[in-house]
Amino acid sequence: MNTVKQDSSEWAEGLNLMAGPYFLGLYQPSPETKGFWEGVTRHELLLKWCPACQRAHHPKRIVCTGCGSAELSWKRSEGRGKVYSFSEVHHVADKAFMASAPYTIGLVALEEGVYLLSRLLAEPGPIAIDQPVRLDFRVLESGRLLPVFKVGQP
Ligand SMILES: [Zn+2]
Repeated sequence: MNTVKQDSSEWAEGLNLMAGPYFLGLYQPSPETKGFWEGVTRHELLLKWCPACQRAHHPKRIVCTGCGSAELSWKRSEGRGKVYSFSEVHHVADKAFMASAPYTIGLVALEEGVYLLSRLLAEPGPIAIDQPVRLDFRVLESGRLLPVFKVGQP
């Protein structure tokens, strides 16, 4: 018996990335993140927004951590922040990433107070903690348009 709901097929589409036996679940829109992915197609980084307490949240957040409200909407990020942490990736989990390695991923602290894990582009390098970053969009290894951050560009 098929227990998958008929209407789940649209948002359940995603890149079926595996690391050995583990499904990484990358780039997989859900009902909670559908607005985020729609924003990406327009080159907009959308954050969850609580109108009650005027706080931005991670795009996956479904409840405001300030007031507990589930009435969150979307708000466009200015796309500026700083490098909070980063790591250079040399050993890739999927062969699709081999041509790009080494590449840098990092946690960006957005000015809105939200932390996002993303690809960091150093133009020019090297990358350091607290360097300013600016939002950009690139088609990465998956063939999908994704938000990335250029380092050293306030
Ligand atoms: Zn709130």
